[in-house]
Amino acid sequence: MTMSSSVSGVSFDTDEETALILSALEEFIEREVEPLEAELGETWSNPRKRHEDDGRLVDEVVDAMGELRRKSAEAGFYAMNLPEEVGGEGVSNVTWYRAVKHVASTGPGLTECVLAGPEGPKPLLAQADREQIETYLKPTVRGETSTAFAQTEPGVGSDSPNMKTTAEKDGDEWVINGTKQWITNAPYADFVQLFARTTPQSEAGRYGGITCFIVEADEYEITALNNAVGAVGRQGELTLDDVRVPETRVLGTVDRAFYDAMEFLSLGRLEIGAQSVGHAEFLLDRAVEYANEREAFGESIGSFQGISHKIAEGRAKSYAADAAGLRLAWQTERGDSAIEASSIVKYLATNVLYDVAEDVVGIHGGNGLAEENPFMSELQTARLLRIVEGTDEIQLNTIAKRMGVE
Ligand SMILES: Cc1cc2nc3c(=O)[nH]c(=O)nc-3n(C[C@H](O)[C@H](O)[C@H](O)COP(=O)(O)OP(=O)(O)OC[C@H]3O[C@@H](n4cnc5c(N)ncnc54)[C@H](O)[C@@H]3O)c2cc1C
Repeated sequence: MTMSSSVSGVSFDTDEETALILSALEEFIEREVEPLEAELGETWSNPRKRHEDDGRLVDEVVDAMGELRRKSAEAGFYAMNLPEEVGGEGVSNVTWYRAVKHVASTGPGLTECVLAGPEGPKPLLAQADREQIETYLKPTVRGETSTAFAQTEPGVGSDSPNMKTTAEKDGDEWVINGTKQWITNAPYADFVQLFARTTPQSEAGRYGGITCFIVEADEYEITALNNAVGAVGRQGELTLDDVRVPETRVLGTVDRAFYDAMEFLSLGRLEIGAQSVGHAEFLLDRAVEYANEREAFGESIGSFQGISHKIAEGRAKSYAADAAGLRLAWQTERGDSAIEASSIVKYLATNVLYDVAEDVVGIHGGNGLAEENPFMSELQTARLLRIVEGTDEIQLNTIAKRMGVE
């Protein structure tokens, strides 16, 4: 499955193959996701029932998510962007962008399990050697296991090269010590991809000296849940106290993890861009419906320009973010360096979603705040997306630096 014809020139057409994937995804959501949500009932729809007292997702929900990932993998969707050699479908980044956006445009829900997210096979796993591919990557591609990407620490987020977690070589083992925080899916993962300093910054330079290790769930301790508003129960703190892992768990090259990760950063930002545009489109569709049906002062609220202009502005912004996202997808597919473009897309799309969600809450008046409606949770998600994988400020720093601002 390739998109070579549209990669050689700029095309905004949805090719036939992608169109088929998108319609098959819709059928999958109708056939598998919606009935599962209905079966779970309030255990899924009511946030108070979805979590244990400490915030952890109840087992029924964790199991349902796992089941959906496996089914989606069987149907060829879950890790469609990964190469066929490791069990993926090898679709282009353009097709993947469209698929992520399409699923997000159906709104929040268990649909989040249809395409691999932070719990799924990260592009970083492309560094895996043959044995790691069989043991760790392929089961994750099949949706049978899940993982996490552990970089952030209690004292270090944006300034990640300054991490305090260390790994020291002892014979043919590495001894890891440190604490990671805010790690998505850590409470449920089978293994994590964990970053540790292996050579001091004074010797290796700012971005050198960091190595990525595969660490299995029974080797570290989950010492806290980091319950974020809008994502309760999803993130965890993990602590490693003299954890010994064999040499075979080094993912990629010793001391080079940061460079390896940077290479894939653009894809993470592209994914967030696609999700943000999809969610913005979902919200705008709901806003149009409500603006036409809700009446005030004897007229539909859509007839007030204060309402219709907000919807039109949202459309203009999401249209621009979508065009930028597609361009980035095309650039990454060609193998171009896309550092600046990925920061632009991540910054632009998440801020568009934030602005749209803010307006759509307002357009719904009191109903915008109703717990059973998705609008406030979309606003929370938007704010969250502006922080993860590089905050707004970090993206703007990158853009300014690329423009030559010293
Ligand atoms: C819901 C959620 C999920 C997450 N998932 C993961 C995960 O799976 N794996 C993982 O490793 N991490 C994860 N994180 C952590 C996330 O990547 C960090 O929170 C983020 O990178 C910001 O780091 P920080 O929180 O330490 O903020 P800080 O780096 O302390 O920043 C604080 C403020 O200062 C600003 N700032 C910092 N440096 C600069 C600068 N140079 N110029 C201008 N402003 C600056 C920031 O933009 C921010 O506004 C997650 C976080 C959340 C909330």
